[in-house]
Amino acid sequence: MNRRSLLHLAAGASGLSAISAGAQDAVPASFRFLFATDIHVQPERGATEGFTQCVAKMNAVAAAAETKADFLITGGDLIMDALEVGMDRALLEWSLFDEAMMGLEIPAYHTVGNHDIVGWSSKAVVKPGEQDYGKKLFSDRYGEGRTYRSFDHGGWHFILLDSISQNPQTLDYEGRIDDDQLAWLQADLEKTGKETPVVLVSHIPFFSVWHQVIKGPTFALDAKALVANVFEFRKLLETHNVKLVLSGHGHVLEKIEIGRIRYIQGGAVSGMWWKGPVYGNPEGFGVVECRADGEFTYDYESFDWKVRA
Ligand SMILES: [Zn+2]
Repeated sequence: MNRRSLLHLAAGASGLSAISAGAQDAVPASFRFLFATDIHVQPERGATEGFTQCVAKMNAVAAAAETKADFLITGGDLIMDALEVGMDRALLEWSLFDEAMMGLEIPAYHTVGNHDIVGWSSKAVVKPGEQDYGKKLFSDRYGEGRTYRSFDHGGWHFILLDSISQNPQTLDYEGRIDDDQLAWLQADLEKTGKETPVVLVSHIPFFSVWHQVIKGPTFALDAKALVANVFEFRKLLETHNVKLVLSGHGHVLEKIEIGRIRYIQGGAVSGMWWKGPVYGNPEGFGVVECRADGEFTYDYESFDWKVRA
């Protein structure tokens, strides 16, 4: 961003008619970040080449003057699946993911998805008690030792949640923010204050109407499709300046506005698991512009993938 547009934004945001030289540094400018979810890297269907092509497009977007982006947030399901495969296969998928990610020229922050977790399925190959069972592999390699965390950028606060809990009876995953994490979330929001705009990322969506659209108005979703305990903490979000909740999981592009919060499910890098677009929405990623006035815009960018057999 050049100095003139920075000044223009700063003046627009603060209502100041003039900003003295030097003071402009203290006024946060707008910035952009990328949101890429449901990547599902695997050896089949050209998925690794597809993600590599996506990384090249993300680099191009991030470097272009008019769309310059500071970092990437991934939305989970980075690999095809670790729930129901052996460790050899899971590690192969992670290594393909790593290889493609090495080409990315901006920092990346990763959100955990259900398919990134080893063995949390009634059909698991890796069983409880085995060394890599669960979230360890993700948190060690991609989460800086954690599965949920937060950071600040450009006057905004970002919270990456871990929306994946385990059903103690079936050992399958389910969408839920557990009690420890909710206590952390509350403390993190309190520390952030009520003014700072917040972007929250949860792999499993909080809300979705997509199934009602395609299956009829009475179709009910279960805890594998949505975060089951959202109704218990939604008001916590509304008492802070949460602007945007980004998610993945359903692979659709969907925008829902409830009160002051927009809930955007960000399509999928893999489209329909590398088998084509999802209800007409192509393989792609989001470009989010966070403005100095606390508002944002969201655009979806295709990387022109041609499906392989
Ligand atoms: Zn998922």
